[in-house]
Amino acid sequence: MKRIAKSNKLKGVCYDIRGPVLSAAKQIEDQGGKVLKLNIGNPAPFGFDAPDEIVRDVVHNITQAEGYCDSQGIYPARVSIHQYYQQRKIKNLNLDHIFIGNGVSELIVMTMQALLNDGDEMLIPAPDYPLWTAAVNLSGGQAVHYRCDENSNWAPDLADMEAKISSRTRGLVLINPNNPTGSVYTKDQLEAIIELARKHELIIFSDEIYELIRYDNTPYTSIASLTDDVMFVTFNGLSKTYRVAGYRTGWMVISGNTHLASDYLDGLNILSSMRLCANVPSQFAIQAALGGKQSIFELTCDSGRLNRQRLLAHDMINNTPGLSTTLPQGALYCFVRIDTERFNIKDDEQFILDLLIDKHILLVHGTAFNWPEPDHFRLVFLPQYEVLEDALSRLADFLKSYRQT
Ligand code: PLP
Repeated sequence: MKRIAKSNKLKGVCYDIRGPVLSAAKQIEDQGGKVLKLNIGNPAPFGFDAPDEIVRDVVHNITQAEGYCDSQGIYPARVSIHQYYQQRKIKNLNLDHIFIGNGVSELIVMTMQALLNDGDEMLIPAPDYPLWTAAVNLSGGQAVHYRCDENSNWAPDLADMEAKISSRTRGLVLINPNNPTGSVYTKDQLEAIIELARKHELIIFSDEIYELIRYDNTPYTSIASLTDDVMFVTFNGLSKTYRVAGYRTGWMVISGNTHLASDYLDGLNILSSMRLCANVPSQFAIQAALGGKQSIFELTCDSGRLNRQRLLAHDMINNTPGLSTTLPQGALYCFVRIDTERFNIKDDEQFILDLLIDKHILLVHGTAFNWPEPDHFRLVFLPQYEVLEDALSRLADFLKSYRQT
């Protein structure tokens, strides 16, 4: 029999957050070793419980959730999403333009599959959340990366963005608050991005899954609230803010200038119907989540657990010779610069593997986020304060003897 190869459609499709280094970590675990996983933004295993009312609503409604539902999602959930964005002053909302999916992940893939013809281009940030690049490539499109600038707190480089727009560019992706950099964009930055989208007729895809995970009272603007003459697709979900990543529930809202988008919306409906519907029981959590007390603020306020861990990670990293990081204003990550000359690093994945083997700490190398140079890695600051403190001192200890030139 011939070798069974994966399809050509998967060329250029990769998701290294769960890539080869994770397999090495599994091997260590299979041999009885314990690995501290600082690689995935999954709050539950680190003792972040879901709000009670969310779990109660799912359990309470479980017997009503035995059948398929509407492909776009259950009605009460879509109504609460609609209200949520009305309060945020997002313009030209329509209940029929709200889709609930099996996590934001599924919807990201759907939006790209429904839009892109072979060779169409999407502007994606570098660094990015790599699913965006993978989804564009899987859809036959071309991911074109614009740089975010570490020296300006990882703001999108607008000149680079504009220089990369071509006649094939269909849209641009923003991740705000950002994974992996923790940057939160200002209203002025968002206005400038809208200006570009307006001029070049681009759709703005705004991944806002960390919208409510912000620190130091950093102000926030949902880009779709700023104008109605550009089309926006805004994404959010339950995974991070409500700590139920395993429920696989997210949504997207298409708003703004949608009057020429009926064919695209039809495409999204085709793809939604093909998978019948998203997981139904967890859709019952949406109303309770959006309408209830936002318990995430107890974690992100000055004395909150997430905030204390963020500050610890930031301080310990910047006190480690050879490492530096900006102070994340949002999300769950530090994107850490490593002095590649000092440690003679040419391959950042190898560096992450060496750390894993020596210290049983799992991080993700920066190039996995489509960052072009091997000089960063991402750290998740979800573990308990003491665990994080211990991990960061082990990292510092590892670097003391790592390939010093
Ligand atoms: N978008 C960003 C920026 C993320 O960081 C993640 C998960 O880490 C997702 C989307 C996927 O979220 P979901 O669990 O809703 O599929």
